[in-house]
Amino acid sequence: MPEGDTIHRAARTLHAALAGKTVTRFETALAQLARVDDETPIAGRVIERVEAQGKNLLVHFSGDLHLRTHMRMNGSWHIYRPGERWRLPRRDMRLAIETAEWVAVAFNVPVADFYDSRSLERQEDLRRIGPDFIADAFDVNEAKRRIRERADMEIADVLLNQRVVSGIGNEFKSEILFMARVHPFARVADLSDEQLDAILSTARKVMRANVAKHSAARITNFSLDPRQTQYVYARGGKPCRKCGTAIEYAKQGRDVRGTYWCPKCQVRGKS
Ligand SMILES: [Zn+2]
Repeated sequence: MPEGDTIHRAARTLHAALAGKTVTRFETALAQLARVDDETPIAGRVIERVEAQGKNLLVHFSGDLHLRTHMRMNGSWHIYRPGERWRLPRRDMRLAIETAEWVAVAFNVPVADFYDSRSLERQEDLRRIGPDFIADAFDVNEAKRRIRERADMEIADVLLNQRVVSGIGNEFKSEILFMARVHPFARVADLSDEQLDAILSTARKVMRANVAKHSAARITNFSLDPRQTQYVYARGGKPCRKCGTAIEYAKQGRDVRGTYWCPKCQVRGKS
Protein backbone atom coordinates (compact mmCIF):
# COMPACT_ATOMS: atom_id res chain seq x y z
CA MET A 1 0.00 0.00 0.00
CA PRO A 2 1.36 3.45 -0.81
CA GLU A 3 2.53 5.42 2.20
CA GLY A 4 0.58 8.53 3.12
CA ASP A 5 3.41 10.71 1.86
CA THR A 6 3.00 9.17 -1.62
CA ILE A 7 -0.68 10.13 -1.68
CA HIS A 8 0.01 13.61 -0.35
CA ARG A 9 2.80 14.13 -2.85
CA ALA A 10 0.52 13.02 -5.68
CA ALA A 11 -2.21 15.36 -4.43
CA ARG A 12 0.19 18.31 -4.26
CA THR A 13 1.54 17.66 -7.74
CA LEU A 14 -1.95 17.30 -9.21
CA HIS A 15 -3.18 20.38 -7.36
CA ALA A 16 -0.27 22.50 -8.64
CA ALA A 17 -0.90 21.38 -12.21
CA LEU A 18 -4.69 21.35 -12.33
CA ALA A 19 -6.21 23.75 -9.79
CA GLY A 20 -8.05 26.64 -11.41
CA LYS A 21 -7.90 24.99 -14.84
CA THR A 22 -10.82 23.93 -17.02
CA VAL A 23 -11.26 20.28 -17.98
CA THR A 24 -11.04 19.99 -21.77
CA ARG A 25 -11.56 16.24 -21.93
CA PHE A 26 -12.56 13.45 -19.52
CA GLU A 27 -12.15 9.77 -20.26
CA THR A 28 -12.88 6.73 -18.13
CA ALA A 29 -13.00 2.95 -18.31
CA LEU A 30 -15.26 2.76 -15.24
CA ALA A 31 -19.02 2.48 -15.80
CA GLN A 32 -20.01 4.36 -12.65
CA LEU A 33 -17.91 7.36 -13.67
CA ALA A 34 -19.00 7.23 -17.33
CA ARG A 35 -22.64 7.36 -16.25
CA VAL A 36 -22.11 10.60 -14.31
CA ASP A 37 -20.06 12.04 -17.17
CA ASP A 38 -22.91 11.28 -19.60
CA GLU A 39 -25.48 12.99 -17.41
CA THR A 40 -23.43 15.96 -16.23
CA PRO A 41 -20.26 16.24 -18.33
CA ILE A 42 -16.93 16.72 -16.59
CA ALA A 43 -15.45 18.60 -19.57
CA GLY A 44 -16.05 22.32 -19.09
CA ARG A 45 -15.85 22.15 -15.29
CA VAL A 46 -13.08 23.90 -13.39
CA ILE A 47 -10.85 21.80 -11.11
CA GLU A 48 -11.03 23.67 -7.83
CA ARG A 49 -8.76 21.64 -5.59
CA VAL A 50 -6.95 18.32 -5.26
CA GLU A 51 -6.26 16.96 -1.78
CA ALA A 52 -5.40 13.81 0.15
CA GLN A 53 -7.57 12.51 2.95
CA GLY A 54 -5.98 9.52 4.61
CA LYS A 55 -5.10 7.33 1.64
CA ASN A 56 -7.84 8.78 -0.55
CA LEU A 57 -7.21 11.33 -3.24
CA LEU A 58 -10.05 13.82 -3.78
CA VAL A 59 -10.51 16.01 -6.85
CA HIS A 60 -13.07 18.79 -6.38
CA PHE A 61 -14.75 20.14 -9.54
CA SER A 62 -16.94 23.19 -9.98
CA GLY A 63 -20.66 22.52 -9.87
CA ASP A 64 -20.46 20.53 -6.61
CA LEU A 65 -18.89 17.42 -8.09
CA HIS A 66 -16.18 15.52 -6.23
CA LEU A 67 -14.09 12.58 -7.40
CA ARG A 68 -12.73 10.19 -4.81
CA THR A 69 -10.08 7.59 -5.65
CA HIS A 70 -8.29 5.13 -3.42
CA MET A 71 -5.06 3.58 -4.66
CA ARG A 72 -5.06 0.43 -2.48
CA MET A 73 -2.06 -1.73 -3.46
CA ASN A 74 -1.59 -1.08 -7.15
CA GLY A 75 -3.25 2.19 -8.08
CA SER A 76 -1.28 5.27 -9.10
CA TRP A 77 -1.78 8.76 -10.49
CA HIS A 78 0.51 10.08 -13.22
CA ILE A 79 0.67 13.46 -14.88
CA TYR A 80 1.71 14.02 -18.50
CA ARG A 81 1.83 16.70 -21.13
CA PRO A 82 -0.86 16.19 -23.81
CA GLY A 83 0.49 13.74 -26.37
CA GLU A 84 3.32 12.52 -24.11
CA ARG A 85 3.85 8.76 -23.97
CA TRP A 86 2.41 7.10 -20.84
CA ARG A 87 4.60 4.92 -18.67
CA LEU A 88 1.84 2.34 -18.20
CA PRO A 89 -0.27 0.66 -20.88
CA ARG A 90 -3.53 2.18 -21.91
CA ARG A 91 -5.47 -0.87 -20.67
CA ASP A 92 -4.45 0.05 -17.10
CA MET A 93 -6.01 3.52 -17.43
CA ARG A 94 -9.12 3.94 -15.31
CA LEU A 95 -9.68 7.64 -15.81
CA ALA A 96 -7.97 10.63 -17.40
CA ILE A 97 -8.60 14.31 -16.75
CA GLU A 98 -7.22 16.61 -19.44
CA THR A 99 -6.67 20.37 -19.36
CA ALA A 100 -4.97 22.60 -21.95
CA GLU A 101 -1.57 21.91 -20.34
CA TRP A 102 -1.74 18.58 -18.54
CA VAL A 103 -3.31 15.14 -18.56
CA ALA A 104 -3.78 13.49 -15.15
CA VAL A 105 -4.19 9.73 -15.49
CA ALA A 106 -5.27 7.29 -12.78
CA PHE A 107 -4.03 3.76 -13.42
CA ASN A 108 -5.49 0.65 -11.77
CA VAL A 109 -7.31 2.56 -9.03
CA PRO A 110 -9.74 0.01 -7.56
CA VAL A 111 -11.96 2.67 -5.97
CA ALA A 112 -13.25 5.68 -7.92
CA ASP A 113 -16.58 7.44 -7.51
CA PHE A 114 -18.21 10.82 -7.97
CA TYR A 115 -20.09 12.52 -5.13
CA ASP A 116 -21.87 15.77 -4.43
CA SER A 117 -20.82 17.47 -1.20
CA ARG A 118 -23.69 15.97 0.79
CA SER A 119 -23.01 12.39 -0.25
CA LEU A 120 -19.27 12.92 0.24
CA GLU A 121 -19.86 14.08 3.82
CA ARG A 122 -21.89 10.95 4.46
CA GLN A 123 -18.95 8.67 3.58
CA GLU A 124 -18.42 7.03 6.95
CA ASP A 125 -14.93 5.80 6.24
CA LEU A 126 -13.75 9.30 5.27
CA ARG A 127 -15.29 10.78 8.40
CA ARG A 128 -13.65 8.19 10.61
CA ILE A 129 -10.11 8.80 9.37
CA GLY A 130 -7.85 9.77 12.27
CA PRO A 131 -5.64 12.88 12.43
CA ASP A 132 -3.28 13.01 9.46
CA PHE A 133 0.44 13.41 10.23
CA ILE A 134 1.03 15.10 6.90
CA ALA A 135 -1.85 17.59 6.94
CA ASP A 136 -1.02 21.23 7.66
CA ALA A 137 -3.22 21.07 10.75
CA PHE A 138 -2.51 18.03 12.94
CA ASP A 139 -4.56 17.56 16.09
CA VAL A 140 -2.02 15.95 18.41
CA ASN A 141 -4.42 15.63 21.35
CA GLU A 142 -7.02 13.87 19.22
CA ALA A 143 -4.29 11.55 17.92
CA LYS A 144 -3.23 10.73 21.50
CA ARG A 145 -6.82 10.16 22.56
CA ARG A 146 -7.45 7.74 19.71
CA ILE A 147 -4.20 5.86 20.37
CA ARG A 148 -4.91 5.57 24.10
CA GLU A 149 -8.33 4.09 23.28
CA ARG A 150 -6.45 1.09 21.89
CA ALA A 151 -4.73 0.31 25.21
CA ASP A 152 -4.40 -3.43 24.60
CA MET A 153 -3.06 -3.18 21.07
CA GLU A 154 0.56 -3.19 19.96
CA ILE A 155 1.82 0.27 19.03
CA ALA A 156 3.10 -0.68 15.55
CA ASP A 157 -0.32 -2.07 14.64
CA VAL A 158 -2.08 1.02 16.00
CA LEU A 159 0.07 3.34 13.87
CA LEU A 160 -1.18 1.57 10.72
CA ASN A 161 -4.85 1.85 11.69
CA GLN A 162 -6.25 4.73 9.63
CA ARG A 163 -9.12 5.16 12.07
CA VAL A 164 -6.60 6.06 14.75
CA VAL A 165 -4.04 8.15 12.85
CA SER A 166 -3.39 8.39 9.14
CA GLY A 167 -0.45 8.95 6.86
CA ILE A 168 1.92 6.23 8.10
CA GLY A 169 2.52 3.12 5.99
CA ASN A 170 4.37 -0.05 6.82
CA GLU A 171 7.88 1.14 6.02
CA PHE A 172 7.70 4.33 8.08
CA LYS A 173 6.05 2.48 10.95
CA SER A 174 9.28 0.59 11.67
CA GLU A 175 11.50 3.63 11.08
CA ILE A 176 9.50 5.96 13.31
CA LEU A 177 9.43 3.48 16.20
CA PHE A 178 13.18 3.02 15.94
CA MET A 179 13.75 6.77 16.03
CA ALA A 180 11.42 7.09 19.04
CA ARG A 181 13.21 4.10 20.67
CA VAL A 182 9.94 2.23 21.25
CA HIS A 183 9.57 -1.52 20.66
CA PRO A 184 6.96 -2.26 17.95
CA PHE A 185 5.30 -4.96 20.08
CA ALA A 186 4.88 -2.69 23.12
CA ARG A 187 1.24 -2.40 24.14
CA VAL A 188 -0.20 1.11 24.15
CA ALA A 189 -1.05 0.75 27.86
CA ASP A 190 2.64 0.17 28.63
CA LEU A 191 3.83 3.39 26.96
CA SER A 192 4.54 6.54 28.97
CA ASP A 193 3.19 9.88 27.79
CA GLU A 194 6.77 10.86 26.96
CA GLN A 195 7.15 7.82 24.70
CA LEU A 196 3.86 8.56 22.97
CA ASP A 197 4.87 12.19 22.49
CA ALA A 198 8.18 11.05 21.01
CA ILE A 199 6.40 8.76 18.54
CA LEU A 200 3.95 11.46 17.47
CA SER A 201 6.51 14.23 17.05
CA THR A 202 8.88 11.90 15.18
CA ALA A 203 6.08 10.74 12.89
CA ARG A 204 5.02 14.30 12.16
CA LYS A 205 8.58 15.41 11.38
CA VAL A 206 9.46 12.42 9.20
CA MET A 207 6.22 12.29 7.24
CA ARG A 208 6.21 16.05 6.57
CA ALA A 209 9.86 15.99 5.48
CA ASN A 210 9.16 13.23 3.00
CA VAL A 211 6.23 15.03 1.41
CA ALA A 212 8.22 18.25 1.05
CA LYS A 213 10.94 16.47 -0.88
CA HIS A 214 10.55 16.38 -4.62
CA SER A 215 12.15 13.03 -5.20
CA ALA A 216 10.30 9.80 -4.56
CA ALA A 217 13.22 8.39 -2.54
CA ARG A 218 12.46 8.22 1.13
CA ILE A 219 14.77 9.23 3.89
CA THR A 220 14.30 8.68 7.58
CA ASN A 221 17.96 8.50 8.43
CA PHE A 222 19.35 11.99 7.97
CA SER A 223 22.84 10.67 7.43
CA LEU A 224 25.23 12.19 4.92
CA ASP A 225 25.83 8.79 3.38
CA PRO A 226 23.24 8.48 0.59
CA ARG A 227 23.32 4.68 0.80
CA GLN A 228 22.06 4.77 4.36
CA THR A 229 18.43 5.60 3.81
CA GLN A 230 16.85 3.35 6.44
CA TYR A 231 17.57 2.52 10.05
CA VAL A 232 15.78 -0.81 10.31
CA TYR A 233 13.25 -1.31 7.51
CA ALA A 234 14.21 -4.23 5.22
CA ARG A 235 17.45 -4.65 7.23
CA GLY A 236 16.67 -7.90 9.09
CA GLY A 237 19.87 -9.55 10.39
CA LYS A 238 22.04 -6.54 9.56
CA PRO A 239 23.78 -4.51 12.30
CA CYS A 240 21.86 -1.66 13.92
CA ARG A 241 23.27 1.65 12.70
CA LYS A 242 23.46 2.91 16.30
CA CYS A 243 24.54 -0.07 18.41
CA GLY A 244 25.53 -2.86 16.02
CA THR A 245 23.00 -5.41 17.35
CA ALA A 246 21.35 -7.52 14.61
CA ILE A 247 18.03 -6.04 13.45
CA GLU A 248 15.10 -8.33 14.10
CA TYR A 249 12.13 -9.07 11.89
CA ALA A 250 8.66 -10.50 12.50
CA LYS A 251 5.20 -10.51 11.01
CA GLN A 252 2.81 -8.49 13.14
CA GLY A 253 -0.84 -7.69 13.61
CA ARG A 254 -4.15 -8.53 12.05
CA ASP A 255 -2.82 -7.77 8.57
CA VAL A 256 0.46 -9.67 9.17
CA ARG A 257 2.70 -6.79 8.16
CA GLY A 258 6.49 -7.07 8.30
CA THR A 259 8.05 -5.24 11.24
CA TYR A 260 11.75 -4.49 11.88
CA TRP A 261 13.37 -3.33 15.09
CA CYS A 262 16.56 -3.22 17.14
CA PRO A 263 16.16 -5.35 20.31
CA LYS A 264 18.68 -3.21 22.17
CA CYS A 265 17.74 0.35 21.14
CA GLN A 266 13.98 -0.10 21.38
CA VAL A 267 12.28 -0.77 24.70
CA ARG A 268 9.02 -2.57 25.34
CA GLY A 269 8.07 -0.95 28.65
CA LYS A 270 8.19 2.60 29.90
CA SER A 271 11.58 4.22 29.37
ZN1 LIG B 1 20.39 -0.67 18.13
